[in-house]
Formats: sequence, structure tokens, C-alpha cells
Amino acid sequence: MGLYFHIPFCLDRCTYCSFATTRDRSLQPHTIRRLISETTLWGAALGRPAVDTLYLGGGTPSLLSPAELEGLTGAVREAFDLSPLVEATLEANPGTVDLAWLRHARDLGWDRISLGVQALDDTLLARLGRIHGSAQALESLELAERAGFRRRSADLMVGIPGQSLSKVVEDARALVATGIEHLSIYLLDLDKACPLRAEIDAGRLALPSEDEVADVFEALQEELPRLGLPPYEISNYGRPGGESIHNTRYWERRPYLGLGPSAASQLGDFRWTESGIISAWAEGRGEVEFQELDAAEALAEIPLLGLRLHRGVDWGALRNQAAGLNLRPLCDGWESRLRALAKEGLVLWEGDRARLSARGMLMSNGILQMFV
Ligand code: SF4
Repeated sequence: MGLYFHIPFCLDRCTYCSFATTRDRSLQPHTIRRLISETTLWGAALGRPAVDTLYLGGGTPSLLSPAELEGLTGAVREAFDLSPLVEATLEANPGTVDLAWLRHARDLGWDRISLGVQALDDTLLARLGRIHGSAQALESLELAERAGFRRRSADLMVGIPGQSLSKVVEDARALVATGIEHLSIYLLDLDKACPLRAEIDAGRLALPSEDEVADVFEALQEELPRLGLPPYEISNYGRPGGESIHNTRYWERRPYLGLGPSAASQLGDFRWTESGIISAWAEGRGEVEFQELDAAEALAEIPLLGLRLHRGVDWGALRNQAAGLNLRPLCDGWESRLRALAKEGLVLWEGDRARLSARGMLMSNGILQMFV
């Protein structure tokens, strides 16, 4: 299984953020203590299971003190069998890391780092409310390399008000030139109420049009493979062998346990999400949202998540699985719709394997709706 930890603290709140995070650092010691005790309890309850990927996300995990990081890492080692571990990622925010902290993290066994760069333009970063500037972002990537992180990833955001197509491509090139092995491209998501949404609603800022955003994604789809980072998932590009093993497990529906406020877990067909109210979670009184998937829902998740991956879905295997569950008509219905989409160039069939074309990736939200 994989293990995810949510560290819900940030120095400041970005203007677009909808994650379970807080600036109230007074909650930090208590939250980390509970994370450690939950780690111990879950490890014992599951019989010290084998873990092959670790992910420390947030929030800003790089706000953990060296002692907190050491305490949490030690608890994981004791409670879980890490002998098959192949990847241990931590997220970090440029502007919160120094060489000593990074070396310490590396010494504790964290071997992959994901930096929330978002853009290499100080005006856009200020608009997003990020605490770092572009020079600091590049410096953090360099410090991570000096600290011994051979596996480095950066996040880049698309759709920021005022962002031009050529600048996104220029930023992607500059990031790849630092030698990173992985780039995640996210669309700015303003679904929930946030200060940036209010600025847009008040007419003070404007989001780029859907066509402009699609042009950016298309340009990146062309440029990044040329730079040695082919796509392996709708939003993710990596050098061969540099793909995120932990995140791939989500798209392959392999089991994971998430600990911390708002963290999600999936073991078998059971899925649950911890309370996103940080103070409540820290005191063990948050409510857990629990869901048991029925056979049809679980089957639908295979193409829903699997088609996000560039290698797509083994449809022959899915058909057999559906037959074993008496769900063949459901599976055949999806197949005929995917075959119709193939005629429009949105889906590619290679033998019995289905995958989205580059244009299909751009329209994935609509296509994948059939599995929801
Ligand atoms: S760093 Fe990430 S989690 Fe923290 S406020 Fe900004 S967007 Fe939210």
C-alpha cells in the first residue's frame, strides 16, 4: 500500500486555495502528535503492512521542524514495513526551505521532492498570493539538488489571470532546464469561494478563455516531449522512469492510506475522507466521511481513472472483470461510446487497449463523465 500524510499548515493563504490548510501554527504541535499516534495505531491495526510509496503533502510539509519530520518519519518506520519502499516524496514550498532542512529530509530517507513553483513571473505569483518569487523558486530547485534530491518535480499553473501562452511555455522550458525529472501542469481551479474568485467576480481581473487555456495545454503537449518529458497522465509529464509512482497508484486504484485533516484513503472498495476541520482532526473529534463502492461503481473507476494515464486501459481485462460481476452490458455500453469517440479522433484503440488521444486529453472532463 501507499501512505499519504497531510500537513495542513502554510505561512500564508494563497488567493486561490481551497485545501484544508491554516496559518494558525499554534495547532501544529498537537496535529503532528496526532499524526504520529494515528500512524502507530493504523500500523498496528493493519499488522505492520508493507508500504512501497510515501507521500508527505499539504499544505506545506516543509514547515515541519527537523524534530517533527524526524518524529513522523521514525513513527512510519516503526509502524509499517518499509522494506519494499521505492519512493518517498515530500512537497515543499519555495521560500520555506534551506539547505540544512533539505539535507536533513534527505538523510531521513525522503528521496523525491515536489516544489510548488506555479509560475516564474513575480506579478503572477503575487496575484496568486504565493509567498515566493521566481528567483526563489529556481533557487529552491537548486538547493534540493545540492541536498541530494535526484528526483525533483515542479508544479506549474495554467489559467492565471494575465498569464500569456508564450510565458507558460517559457516557464516550462526554464524549469526543465534546471534538470527536473517531472512537471505537473495544473489548471487554476476557482470552484470554491476564495479572494481571487472575488476579484474576478468584481471584474478587477479576468480569467483566460477556455480556448486560450486549451491552446496552452496543446502547446505544452507539443513542447514538453521535445524537451524529454513526455506526458504519462493528463496533467503530468516525466522523463522516462521519472513518473510519480505514488500518484500513479491513485490512477491504478491501488490501495492507499491517508492520514491527516482532509486526507482520503482507499482500501479495497472502501473509501473514506478524514475531517477537513484541522482543530477537530487534531483533537480526534472530526467526522469521517465513509463510502463503500458497489461492484458497478468500483468497475467504473477503472476506466474513469485509468484513461487519465497515457497508456490507457486494457479493455479486454475490463470486459472479463465485468463479465465475472454480471456487468457486461454496462461495460459494453461504455465501449460503444468510446468507439464512437474514436471516430472523432478523441479516443485511440490499439488492439484491445483504449486510450485518450492528445485532443481527448484536452476534453477529458466531458469524456470521463460517462463513468461517473
Ligand atoms: S501553499 Fe498550497 S496549500 Fe498552502 S495556501 Fe498556498 S495553495 Fe494552499
